Amino acid sequence: MNKNKTSQIRNYLVQKMEALRTSANDTIIKLKISDDKFADPFDQAAVEASKEVDLNCLDKDWHLLLDIKETIMRIDSGLFGICDHCGRPISQKRLMAAPMSKLCVMCQEEIESRHNKQKHRFQYAGRISYSHV
Ligand SMILES: [Zn+2]
Repeated sequence: MNKNKTSQIRNYLVQKMEALRTSANDTIIKLKISDDKFADPFDQAAVEASKEVDLNCLDKDWHLLLDIKETIMRIDSGLFGICDHCGRPISQKRLMAAPMSKLCVMCQEEIESRHNKQKHRFQYAGRISYSHV
């Protein structure tokens, strides 16, 4: 990954982080405003449901924000673009498409396939224990 591309990605991430912060602030303000109590329980329920959606979005954005922060730290410390698992460089194509990648394609696939196998094993184990009930 050349320096020019890396700084392009860093700029993009900083902008994204600012946008997320702004939208999180808006959501928090909205949640505070909608803290009123309604006489009609259906209105109240609708407000509560929309608050829940907002909170879920906030939670997702928060995790994304953490990922972005971590990626910026990786860029600044020179670890960006290096696979966490095997230490080999992650392809530029992959980093351009998904800058938050911490694994190269091969390691990612290996881990995913291991994870799937484990899932199958758990499902199978679950079936065995159910047959005893
Ligand atoms: Zn790797």
